[in-house]
Amino acid sequence: MVINDSQNWRMIDMKFAMIGAGAMGLRYGILLQEAGNDVTFIDTWQPHIDRIREQGGVYVMRDHKDRQLTKIKLETPESYNGDPDMFIFFVKQMQLDGYLKRCAHFFNDRQYAFTCMNGMGHIEKLQKYFADDKIIGGTALIATVLPGPGEVDFMGKRGAGKMNMCPLDEKPDEMTHKLFNELDKAQMHPTLTDDFTGTLMTKVIFNSVINTLCTMFEIPMGELGNFKGFYSMGRQLIDEAYDICARADIHLVSTRDEEMAALDRNVRIDMPLHYPSMYQDMIKDRPTEVDYINGYIAELGRKYHYEAATHLFVTQAVHLAEFHRQNEAKKRVAKKQAELQRQTA
Ligand code: NAD
Repeated sequence: MVINDSQNWRMIDMKFAMIGAGAMGLRYGILLQEAGNDVTFIDTWQPHIDRIREQGGVYVMRDHKDRQLTKIKLETPESYNGDPDMFIFFVKQMQLDGYLKRCAHFFNDRQYAFTCMNGMGHIEKLQKYFADDKIIGGTALIATVLPGPGEVDFMGKRGAGKMNMCPLDEKPDEMTHKLFNELDKAQMHPTLTDDFTGTLMTKVIFNSVINTLCTMFEIPMGELGNFKGFYSMGRQLIDEAYDICARADIHLVSTRDEEMAALDRNVRIDMPLHYPSMYQDMIKDRPTEVDYINGYIAELGRKYHYEAATHLFVTQAVHLAEFHRQNEAKKRVAKKQAELQRQTA
């Protein structure tokens, strides 16, 4: 069941610290800042930090256009000593442990942790630092790209995209409603749901089709949607994941047919020109989150004695694509070095 929150809570602006000033951290943080909240960004990627300080802010674009400088407050985990109401975590799954360790010195038991990261594995890590009644999870159908240090591209018009959120203990408190109101003011179109694991897993399954297939073949989502074999490939991944969730007693928030219809709408109508965030990592020769998406589904299957052969296969196929790109990058470096040596000889 989905509860669409229409309660009129007091409009008190909140104090946020964004853990990760990458694509999504910047999008959520800047929109919350524009909605009247106090927002500080915390990041560790030095070229990005240097560029933001040099420029006096971040260049924000919308669909590659209207490039404008936006001032932000930026700190590193070591320099920050604030006390926000809530941390919003937007880092890649494999970065989270490192961030948590470096940020632990400013966490206290009054503060909340909210995240709409993709994949699974992050909640258990957050539980080591925050009590269950202070963790709010969610999912975001909002596309954002970080073209390089110091600039971010919000895909879609203002107000495009939507998101789900649910407290880990499934008991929305005043802070949950305050967050909901601020996200609503920021035009993130939140929906408050009442099944934590079901909400998160439904998005993991969604990503296990689009992110993985587009990344492996380095194609935009529209091309996947136009391929006549897309339905059967998608359905095979969906069926395996849904069979596993049924064994694990996870109640997904949409049926198999609804999930297939959502995938179809997303690739053909909502975002045909967009490349998923996993692809953005691949082309920058960064590791992808595939182990936390298809790999997580396969691992869950193992726990319930179900061999998720297709998810296992595509996890390895994405790793093969990563491996191939790394080899190509090494070859380019070796070629450049040989050329330099020839020139200086
Ligand atoms: P991101 O890669 O843009 O940023 C995450 C962190 O990585 C930041 O600290 C950033 O500074 C750093 N970083 C970025 N580029 C780097 C580089 N080249 N080298 C070293 N560090 C770099 O991540 P994101 O897209 O904001 O994603 C955060 C989470 O949100 C992930 O779980 C992702 O799957 C999820 N998500 C992303 C999108 C999207 O459209 N980007 C949409 C929904 C969910």
